Amino acid sequence: MKRLLLIGGGHAHLFVLEQLARVSTPGTEVVMVTPSAQQGYSGMLPGWMAGHYERSQCQIDLRPLAVAASARLELGHVCAMNADRRCVRLDDGREIAYDVASIDVGSATDLSWLGLAGAKLLAVKPLEAFFSAWPQVLAAARARGQIFRLVVVGAGAAGIELALAARYAFARIGVDAAVSLVGSDSGFLTDHAPAVRRHVLVVLARAQIAFHRGRAVGVEQGLMLSNGQLLSADSVIAATGARAHDWLKRSGLACDESGFVEVDRYQRSVSHPNVFAAGDVCSRHDVEMPRSGTHAVHSGPVLAVNLLAALQGGTMRSYVPRRRSLYLISCGARYAVASWGRWSAKGDWVWRCKDLIDRRFIRRFSRPASAGSPKA
Ligand SMILES: Cc1cc2nc3c(=O)[nH]c(=O)nc-3n(C[C@H](O)[C@H](O)[C@H](O)COP(=O)(O)OP(=O)(O)OC[C@H]3O[C@@H](n4cnc5c(N)ncnc54)[C@H](O)[C@@H]3O)c2cc1C
Repeated sequence: MKRLLLIGGGHAHLFVLEQLARVSTPGTEVVMVTPSAQQGYSGMLPGWMAGHYERSQCQIDLRPLAVAASARLELGHVCAMNADRRCVRLDDGREIAYDVASIDVGSATDLSWLGLAGAKLLAVKPLEAFFSAWPQVLAAARARGQIFRLVVVGAGAAGIELALAARYAFARIGVDAAVSLVGSDSGFLTDHAPAVRRHVLVVLARAQIAFHRGRAVGVEQGLMLSNGQLLSADSVIAATGARAHDWLKRSGLACDESGFVEVDRYQRSVSHPNVFAAGDVCSRHDVEMPRSGTHAVHSGPVLAVNLLAALQGGTMRSYVPRRRSLYLISCGARYAVASWGRWSAKGDWVWRCKDLIDRRFIRRFSRPASAGSPKA
């Protein structure tokens, strides 16, 4: 019996479970380690903050997917991996050995330069913690009795969506709040067309979100900007980019200088051919690939084929990242800005497209093939 170990229930692994539900894998035991059976979907997180969705609508239940794939779910965090010994350790001390492993654990929020910790700070990743903490921020804002000051640090697409969603949420519950966004020029939608940046600046101004350019470091009252300006804050959301999970550096796997697992075009570790990685956790050594859910999703079906090939023999497929990806930036209200290469658009209809795409993604994984149905 060979064991395939799926570490994390990220986007790419959803497709692996889907594929495992379709094909039989005699002689293979499949185990997935995940901290929670509910996989949060980041694309709908701002919509949830704004009140457009219930939390349950932004989550995928991994249990029926695992049943259909004949996989065993082990709830826990992998906290150590020994790629030479082919085993992982979970936070409760359990060890799990594997023959083939696949890592799709996403990334953590990079808080290294922010220098802020404690109750005021809310990092966007891990998503599960953010889902639990945001209602507490809303409650604190309601209870404050005077203006509530929220600062979002990080002006990439995620930070912008979070600031606009927060502004909308405060207005919806009638809380008097000041929302600010801080981002360096190099971080403000750099990979997007100038028209997208223009649209977004207009939307931010309309929402009365003060946009501060520069770096921010944590101080007792909130944040100090690189120009010396103090931003007092009752709560700070960090959307400051992706950081690799610490345990990967000690795993023995070849990692890039930032600690992300280096993989080839088959999404296979360049140092350990029985280990694969996809999504935010990986770094392609042959092509530039931004960290986004789009790549995590698109690499999923390829990863599934390659894991089966590693277990049963067969030809592996290359994951060829598309040159351009479509980004739909939600703007608090049911309004969004679209960005695709040099093309951009904005409007209620863009939000409706995003809503449709997001709901379709969730629906796809909410109706797994039944466990009893025959496999190819
Ligand atoms: C607010 C927001 C909005 C975004 N919107 C978009 C968008 O519209 N389009 C887009 O392309 N990208 C978007 N992104 C980026 C996107 O979230 C990530 O690129 C994407 O989630 C990466 O997917 P993944 O499969 O690598 O990991 P994830 O989706 O993060 O999944 C990783 C899973 O692994 C689990 N895990 C973590 N550590 C461990 C461990 N030690 N052991 C076991 N399991 C573990 C986690 O609990 C999680 O379930 C957004 C990000 C944010 C923050």
